[in-house]
Amino acid sequence: MPGSLRNLSDWLARASNSCHRLHFRASAVKFIFLASLVNAALYHRPLYSFAVTHLDGPSFDGFLILVTLFVVIFIFTALALFLLFMLSARLVKPICMLMALGNSIALYFVATYHAVLDETMMGNVLHTDISEATSYLHPKLFLYLLVFGVLPAWLLARIRIQRASRMRVAIYAGSTVVAALGWIYLSMSTWFWISQNGSSLRGMVMPWSWVINAVRHQAAQLGGPQEQTPLPAAVFASNEKTVVILVIGESARAQNFSLYGYARSTNPLLAESGAIALRNSVACSTYTRASLECMLSHTDNRSAFSDPYEPLPSYLQRHGIDVVWRTKNWGEPPIQVQSYQRNRELKQDCGGPGCEYDEVLLNGLSERIRSSKQQKVFVVLHQRGSHGPSYYAEYPERFEVFTPVCKSVELNHCRNEELVNAYDNTILYTDYFLSRVIALLDDLPDTPAALMYVSDHGESLGEYGLYLHGTPFAIAPGFQKDIPFIVWMSHDFIDKKKISAAKVNVRDSHSQENVFHSVMGAFDMRSDIYDAQLDIFNPDEF
Ligand SMILES: [Zn+2]
Repeated sequence: MPGSLRNLSDWLARASNSCHRLHFRASAVKFIFLASLVNAALYHRPLYSFAVTHLDGPSFDGFLILVTLFVVIFIFTALALFLLFMLSARLVKPICMLMALGNSIALYFVATYHAVLDETMMGNVLHTDISEATSYLHPKLFLYLLVFGVLPAWLLARIRIQRASRMRVAIYAGSTVVAALGWIYLSMSTWFWISQNGSSLRGMVMPWSWVINAVRHQAAQLGGPQEQTPLPAAVFASNEKTVVILVIGESARAQNFSLYGYARSTNPLLAESGAIALRNSVACSTYTRASLECMLSHTDNRSAFSDPYEPLPSYLQRHGIDVVWRTKNWGEPPIQVQSYQRNRELKQDCGGPGCEYDEVLLNGLSERIRSSKQQKVFVVLHQRGSHGPSYYAEYPERFEVFTPVCKSVELNHCRNEELVNAYDNTILYTDYFLSRVIALLDDLPDTPAALMYVSDHGESLGEYGLYLHGTPFAIAPGFQKDIPFIVWMSHDFIDKKKISAAKVNVRDSHSQENVFHSVMGAFDMRSDIYDAQLDIFNPDEF
């Protein structure tokens, strides 16, 4: 990646140098203001139209919000470019050209698919396999690239930046900061609306949405397990064959599970399976990565990201448990396990329509578990689940039970009931998926086995004008925080643990913190960090 970036910037530098004849002159300050103006005006149509559709009709405040969004984007882009100029004046033009090219592609995805360019999405973009990538190669993408990318980059290349003293630029940068603070102060009445819609707006601000999240994603990928603090050595109280499957859901909210009292029958199969819905279960955060960090960590340490401990799968693996991680999603911390399989590998020898959906995670899983040489097997299945905005695309046709469904990725263009129908169908499919996991565990002969299903966070479906998730936790509605946490135990497991469904669900509330200690408990694994109070399978607690 750095190599190809370097080549691209060399090429851009050459391109910009090779057009001396057709050029304009501009001072560094003018160039920076022009590039910032182009950025704010050209690449934020989805952001402005989001604002227009989420404002309560035409009003002065609404107008002020729109102008503030424009001004804030303009000012912060200018400020970043001023800082870049101080670091290296020569880099400003190539970076602006790269920004135009990148923005044009990002704009295509945001405008066409209503994609939220968050870290998960950038993970998808950076790791998309060829077959997925070619499905995006629509002629319209090239049109966007040409009109919003190549053309502005070509025009920027024509501008010759005149030398300027750093002092002069610093004065302009300082004035920009003052102007920014002044505007923010004067537009105080817009703050509430902007912070309320911040999670949706953030994914549409160019180029920061895609640049910052791509960097974040890469940094997380590069940060290897060696930086994680190892957890204390553990011992096992038994060596009996035990299989535990942890299914990590995506954007599933408790509200729409009939096991949690939803009026619609969205869990017909789970209801018959003897699965237990742990009451009052709350997520640690409203976005995937932080929730996974929390779920796989022994402590509810929100700063786990800056000072991570060894996550659960690596801890179990290091203690001789056979750990299998299968994923159709992103956002997990770096882990070291015996087998780590992504969607595309699982798809290779998968047959049938289910291979396009979460069922691909079950391909060959029973054989894999049965052939394990180890006594204890831990499987994590990280679902695609109810990933928005295209809920309708996350389940096979036969699960389109609640109709009509919203088939637009522009969620606010759908009738609310159509959106909820599509979402409920994903829950119905998850119900089926979990029933298959239960059947798989139930079929293992004489094996204590358990399933834990926990969603990473909930989802907003238009309540209070919010969609998707990622609203700051302190102000996020319950829809984004209340999650399904479902447990199923085989008869052998219940006998071995001397527990019952009632004992497992005796607590008044649950959180993702219970996962780590309950998995340790299921394997009779004990160490200094094990907290019996958080272990739902611990019979001694009652
Ligand atoms: Zn998520």
